[in-house]
Amino acid sequence: MKYVEPAPINRNDDDPFESMMSRFEIAADILGLDSGTFDYLKTPQMQVTVSIPIKLDDGTIKVFEGLRIIHSSVRGPSKGGIRFHPDVNVQEVKALAAWMTWKCAVVNIPFGGAKGGIICDPRKLTKVELEKITRRYTGNLLDVFGPERDIPAPDVNTDEQIMGWIMDTYSMHIRHTESAVVTGKPGNLGGSAGRRKATGRGVRIVSEAAMEQIGLQPEGAKISIQGFGNVGAVAAEEFSEIGAKVVAISDVTGGYYNPAGIDIEHAIRHRKENDGLLTDFPGAEKISNEALLELECDILAPCALENVINRKNADKIKAKIIIEGANGPTTAKADAILDKKGILVVPDILANAGGVSVSYFEWVQNRIGYYWSEDDVNERLQRILTEAYASVRKRSEKHNVNMRIGAYVLAIERVANALKLRGIYG
Ligand code: NAD
Repeated sequence: MKYVEPAPINRNDDDPFESMMSRFEIAADILGLDSGTFDYLKTPQMQVTVSIPIKLDDGTIKVFEGLRIIHSSVRGPSKGGIRFHPDVNVQEVKALAAWMTWKCAVVNIPFGGAKGGIICDPRKLTKVELEKITRRYTGNLLDVFGPERDIPAPDVNTDEQIMGWIMDTYSMHIRHTESAVVTGKPGNLGGSAGRRKATGRGVRIVSEAAMEQIGLQPEGAKISIQGFGNVGAVAAEEFSEIGAKVVAISDVTGGYYNPAGIDIEHAIRHRKENDGLLTDFPGAEKISNEALLELECDILAPCALENVINRKNADKIKAKIIIEGANGPTTAKADAILDKKGILVVPDILANAGGVSVSYFEWVQNRIGYYWSEDDVNERLQRILTEAYASVRKRSEKHNVNMRIGAYVLAIERVANALKLRGIYG
């Protein structure tokens, strides 16, 4: 495998958009992209900031800030989640939106990419306040959202209930129920069977392909997972189901390590009983989130936030495979270090694409008004991800680059080809 040079010095490794651009530049170079197409594909199509004033439960008014960034709708309506987090910022949302464009292209579904966020700490808000924030955000973005235009989905700290409120608010304004405006909805509001588990299930599917690639048996394989939310906890369940041994899990409260293997059902029960957190989870030794990343294991699956594997700790990683359940967990400078160490990194735009794949299935089912069984959904998910993995691997072998650059080359080529066929209006 070719050693990929570290990102150019002028790029800020801590900035997710710059980190995305570092990889984009390498892939664009391989593809021989002309400078006009390069500029077109790197520039977000639309960036919207909205103010979200709501009346809190104590009667005071508080104004929140919301963002929605559409990176591209070249291959179809834009698709991407909404994040509620105090650290949400433009550079992060821009990067996440671009990653959605590349992700949809990697799995070859007819969507572009977008992302949204609200700067808030949902843990400090009541359910009523969260509902008001969600509805006002949706109300402000009525001209942006739409089943043919831009379709949100869940991300960090947003769930089925929030998607339900988005669907209802949008539907109230357009005077009819429009389920296809958002995915990741509750089942009885048109949500797809298998959507909640799709991202974690996809993490397991691509992990199996990666294990096969390096000749590692799933039975007894040691897995460390950072993040125990929608992606991380489901991935943990899925790994346990195939006989792998999850030795470490973590969330905002810290890491939990048990070399004999963690009982995942117990951890999920414990989380439920502790307000959604792993606080003081028994049956495992408490470690830090940083230490979790550096544990001796076969697979490391970062499933929380960006930049956790960076130039400061990449050299200490001992896993054989990294499966990026989160978006952007590895910085561009860390890529080069991991390459040198011979670690197989399955990049985010492939590893966590199970979520958007089943979101696509949900949108299709909403539009045809006919619903598939969970077996049907899972079978299609398995097919889409297995094919995408094989295509990315082929690309990386063809250009003698790592899987991440292989994925970017595949994705950017697909988007650039669509753009060429559409042409430039104006
Ligand atoms: P979530 O809110 O359900 O869970 C996030 C988890 O990460 C929680 O357990 C939280 O405690 C933990 N966490 C947060 N900050 C942390 C920190 N500093 N250290 C350790 N743990 C921390 O979110 P999610 O939906 O599981 O998303 C996780 C990641 O996966 C994000 O990068 C998201 O963009 C990506 N992703 C999500 C989906 C999806 O379908 N939900 C799809 C693709 C990618």
